[in-house]
Amino acid sequence: MRRLLMHSPIGVAALWILAYLLITLFPLMVLLFYPPPEQGFWVDFSVGLGFIGLAMMALQFVLTARVNRIESSYGIDILLQFHRYTSLVAFFMVLLHPVILFIVQPETIQLLNFPQAPLRAKMAVLGTIAFLAMVITTIWRKQLKIPYEPWRASHTILAALALGLGFGHTIAVGNYLGLFWKVVLWSGMILIALWLILYVRLVKPWLMQKKPYVVEEILPQRGEVWTLALRPLGHDGFTFHPGQFSWLTLNITPFSMREHPFSMSSSGDRSDRIEFGIKAIGDFTKRIQDYKPGTKAYLDGLYGVFTIDRYGDSAGFVLIAGGVGITPIYSILLTAAERKDDRPFLLIYAAPSWNDITYREALEELKKTLNLTIVYVLRKTHDNWEGETGYVDRALLEKYIPQHRGSRQYFICAAPVMMDAVERALFELKVPVTNVHMEHFNLA
Ligand SMILES: Cc1cc2nc3c(=O)[nH]c(=O)nc-3n(C[C@H](O)[C@H](O)[C@H](O)COP(=O)(O)OP(=O)(O)OC[C@H]3O[C@@H](n4cnc5c(N)ncnc54)[C@H](O)[C@@H]3O)c2cc1C
Repeated sequence: MRRLLMHSPIGVAALWILAYLLITLFPLMVLLFYPPPEQGFWVDFSVGLGFIGLAMMALQFVLTARVNRIESSYGIDILLQFHRYTSLVAFFMVLLHPVILFIVQPETIQLLNFPQAPLRAKMAVLGTIAFLAMVITTIWRKQLKIPYEPWRASHTILAALALGLGFGHTIAVGNYLGLFWKVVLWSGMILIALWLILYVRLVKPWLMQKKPYVVEEILPQRGEVWTLALRPLGHDGFTFHPGQFSWLTLNITPFSMREHPFSMSSSGDRSDRIEFGIKAIGDFTKRIQDYKPGTKAYLDGLYGVFTIDRYGDSAGFVLIAGGVGITPIYSILLTAAERKDDRPFLLIYAAPSWNDITYREALEELKKTLNLTIVYVLRKTHDNWEGETGYVDRALLEKYIPQHRGSRQYFICAAPVMMDAVERALFELKVPVTNVHMEHFNLA
C-alpha cells in the first residue's frame, strides 16, 4: 500500500491533499482541544474559523512558491485553480469570524471604531482590508485594467500584509495562544510562509543567476510568432519532458521578478539549445524581435505536466492546438520524431489562415519520420482550399478521432474559448476525462 501511494502519480497527489488537510486542521485541533476552550460554542466556533482561515492563508504561499514536487503532481493549472478557490474559502472564513462575534457578543462591534480600537482590532481590520483588496484586484484585474506585473507585485505585498497582520492579531488577542508552545507552533507556520516569499524573491533568482543563458538566434515564424533560441552559458543546460515550460527573464536581473512563462518548443532531449515560440501580443512579447544575439537570459524551470512522457503505455496521441498553442505540441512531435516513436499521432491544428500556420513547413517535414496525420482547420480559407474550415467542434472531432476513444491520450493547448469547447465536445464523444490534458496560457 505504502509503495503504491509513493510511486503512483495519483498516490503522491493524494498524499499532498492529506498533508494539506492535516496542516490546515492540526494547529486548530491543538488550539481548541488542549487545554479545552471555555468561551462558549459560538465564540469558539468563530475563533476556529479564523484559525483555519489563517492556516489556509499561510498554505497559499506553499501553493504559489513553484515547489517542483507539488507542481509535478498536479500541473500548474490545477494548482492555481486550487489556490483561487481555497483563497476565497479562507477569505469567507476570516470574514465570518468577526461577523459571528458581533452577533453573539454585540458589544464587540465597538472594535470597528478604528481610532479608538485596541491594536489587536486594528491589526484585524487592516489585515482584512488587505485580503479584500487582494481578492478584488485578482478577480477583476482585467476590468480594472491592472497590468500583470504591478498586479503580481501588489498581490505578494498584500498577501504578506494580510498574513502578518492576521497573525499579529491572534498573538495580541492571546486567549487561544496562551501557552508558549502554541505560540511557537503558529509562529513556525507563519515563518515558513514568510520564508517562502524570501525563497521565491531572493534564493531562486540567485540560483538562476548562477546558470545564465544567451540569446543565440531570433527567427520569425508564421502567425506573428518569434523563435527565441537560447544557449546555456558555462553550464550544460537541461533536457526536459516535451510539453513542459519555464519562466523566462530576458535582458534584466532575475531579482527583478519580471519573468514570463513559455513552453519550450525545441526537442526535449536537446540541452545545448533551448527554443521558445513566442507570439507577439503585449509589452514583453512584442519586443522579442528587437533583442540581439548575445543578450543574457535566465530560466526558472522545469514546470508542467502537459507531456506525453507520463503516458508511455498509450497506444497513440491526439494533439489539438489553436494558434500559438502549437508550441508545446511541436516540441512533443519533434522529440517523438527524434526518439523514433512509431505510435500514431493525430494533430488537429486550428489557425486563422493558411499563412498563419506556425511551423507549417517543419510539421509537414515531420510527417516523413513520424506516423503523423495533420488536420488543419482554417477560419479564413483561400480559393482552392479543400481542407477543414470553421472551428474545432464536436462534428469535426468525431470525424477524426479513433472509434475506440480510450485508446489515446488527448492534449489540448489553445485559446481558453477553444479549449472549453473542445473539452466539452470530447466529453460528449465519451472520451474518458482522465485521458484529456490541457495547458492554459493564461494564468491570471
Ligand atoms: C504555462 C504557460 C505556457 C506558455 N507558453 C507560451 C508559449 O509557448 N508561447 C507564447 O507565445 N506564450 C506562451 N504563454 C503565454 C505568455 O506567458 C504570455 O503571452 C506573455 O507572458 C504575455 O506577456 P506580455 O507582456 O507580452 O503581454 P501582456 O499584454 O502584458 O499580457 C497578456 C496576458 O498574458 C499574461 N501574462 C502577462 N505577463 C505575464 C507574466 N509575467 N506571467 C504570467 N502571465 C503573464 C496575463 O494573463 C496577461 O493578461 C504561456 C503561458 C503559460 C501560463
